[in-house]
Amino acid sequence: MREPLLASADFDPAEDAGARDGAARSERRRFVLLDDTGFDEVPAKYRRFYRRWRGPGDVLAENEVLCPVCRVVIRSARELRPGDRVYCMPCMSRLEVVRGEAGRLEAIVRY
Ligand SMILES: [Zn+2]
Repeated sequence: MREPLLASADFDPAEDAGARDGAARSERRRFVLLDDTGFDEVPAKYRRFYRRWRGPGDVLAENEVLCPVCRVVIRSARELRPGDRVYCMPCMSRLEVVRGEAGRLEAIVRY
């Protein structure tokens, strides 16, 4: 299957929400993802967008969310908010960011 997201030069696991919240998106904190996380299950150019979950003591940044399918941390170049859709490349899941019971951001599988 051809994945249009991957063809984009400015790939980010968090999909562009388009007109839905275009204004809100530009107000979000930006994050610079320069480091290669060493996550070797995706091609090198995408490695900075994913890292391994280090277990219960791990803390997610505002631009990170955990994939419930493969337990990989997905990292965006911008702050994530409930309603955002993110793409997990390692397991090819499309996820939606939701506010979990503990108040943390979590991801659920859309399809
Ligand atoms: Zn995944």
